[in-house]
Amino acid sequence: MHHSSLPNELINEFQSISGLKVFKKTKEKERFSRDFYDYSPVLKKRLENCCADLVVQPNSVEDVISVAQLCYREDIPLTLRGAGTGNYGQCVPLRSGVVMVMSSLNNIRDFNSSTGFVTVEAGCLMGDLDKYLFSKERQLRLLPSTWRSASVAGFVAGGSGGIGSVRWGFLRDPGHLLSLEVVTVEEQPRKLCLEADAAEALNHAYGTNGIITALTLATAPSVAWQEVAIDCRDWPRAVELLLDCARAAVDLHLCSLLEKQIVDLLPAWSGPSTGRHRLLILVNPDGVSTLERMAIAAGASFKCLGSEKAKTGSGLRELTWNHTTLHMRAINSDWTYLQMLLPLCELESMSLLKNKWGDDLLWHIEVVRQQGVQRLAALPIVRWQGQAFLEELIADCKNAGAIMFNPHVITVEDGGLGVIDGNQVHAKHCFDPKGLLNPGKLKGWMK
Ligand SMILES: Cc1cc2nc3c(=O)[nH]c(=O)nc-3n(C[C@H](O)[C@H](O)[C@H](O)COP(=O)(O)OP(=O)(O)OC[C@H]3O[C@@H](n4cnc5c(N)ncnc54)[C@H](O)[C@@H]3O)c2cc1C
Repeated sequence: MHHSSLPNELINEFQSISGLKVFKKTKEKERFSRDFYDYSPVLKKRLENCCADLVVQPNSVEDVISVAQLCYREDIPLTLRGAGTGNYGQCVPLRSGVVMVMSSLNNIRDFNSSTGFVTVEAGCLMGDLDKYLFSKERQLRLLPSTWRSASVAGFVAGGSGGIGSVRWGFLRDPGHLLSLEVVTVEEQPRKLCLEADAAEALNHAYGTNGIITALTLATAPSVAWQEVAIDCRDWPRAVELLLDCARAAVDLHLCSLLEKQIVDLLPAWSGPSTGRHRLLILVNPDGVSTLERMAIAAGASFKCLGSEKAKTGSGLRELTWNHTTLHMRAINSDWTYLQMLLPLCELESMSLLKNKWGDDLLWHIEVVRQQGVQRLAALPIVRWQGQAFLEELIADCKNAGAIMFNPHVITVEDGGLGVIDGNQVHAKHCFDPKGLLNPGKLKGWMK
């Protein structure tokens, strides 16, 4: 059901929920109806006119329950928003209605010092949580490169991995998400505690099948990560060295490789460009000398930039993952990107694509752990030349053996492996029977 606007009596009813902040001004509604979808020219065209009828910001779980109840009673679409840093319009209200901003629900509820498990409310910023964990000698295992501004629930519902993926794989791997507190959208909304198995259905479901109010996550012992930059003249050697570093007996938090044309244009936080391809690595202090030895043996130049924590401002990690795309787009907004897992014959597939697409495709590689094995993910920077061009390039990547995670689509399934997850759809039946949560984003429900 599509609501172009809400009647005043209804707005008054929202305003009478104690503790609930209500935003009614057009500018505010527009601001809270957007994310970073404009990295994709396809999504920009599709989403730029979507806008909420009303934006609300709860202060407590009770407020969340009241909002859910009212939306259910009045059949109003309800879209959740953390910090709004997603790239696929995940929190854009396709069918208007209410956008609920979760950022005031941000307490850290519990820390278990024997397991390191932390229980935190949905809207807590990952940067704040990481700071808190540091005081307990722990750290988050996985972070998006937007870790300073993104919310914890937004990462679980809309993200997938990032810094830490070289060691810890992806958010959906068993062991990261231990439980969820969830509010349902029903006549009498329920507050449920879902243990790890049941929680999986809400992991990366774009908030289509339940409102996350709190989460319990596993953490890792904290490490004073050292920033390392290694420059290589030759691309195949750079790729081999990257894989050798990731397979060595050293503890890594990040292991990225950028083609030299990208390094030339990035901020110089990892040192001035030397006209070579660059590996960017975060490594435990005990692994620095090993990486240095390996780099020198490969004929590369090695630089340790020191400890991350000792620095203020932006670090090496803010040159990686989708921050690489951000910096490239800041220079020229014609750049867009793709996301894929490269096949095991990485070099062969990369040169196949490079031979055809040349400098319209610049390589940005991240080492990730995929089902226990070190693999190369690619987030190449791509020069936008229209929809037909994009489709041809995606087809070529698939033909070269890559598994695509298309960032130019709006549904959970199309951005993933393309398959419907029956558990996600089942959870929606149970927790959102009217299909009001983030409508239009779960293909399995729309069928
Ligand atoms: C420059 C840049 C770099 C990025 N790098 C990475 C990266 O390395 N890895 C990565 O995974 N992502 C990355 N992203 C995407 C995004 O920043 C992250 O996924 C981030 O964690 C999203 O958090 P958020 O709070 O901004 O979520 P939002 O964008 O606000 O929301 C994301 C999704 O979660 C849902 N949601 C939010 N709160 C709740 C809730 N309480 N309950 C249920 N559903 C909810 C929303 O409806 C939406 O579908 C990047 C984005 C940019 C712009």
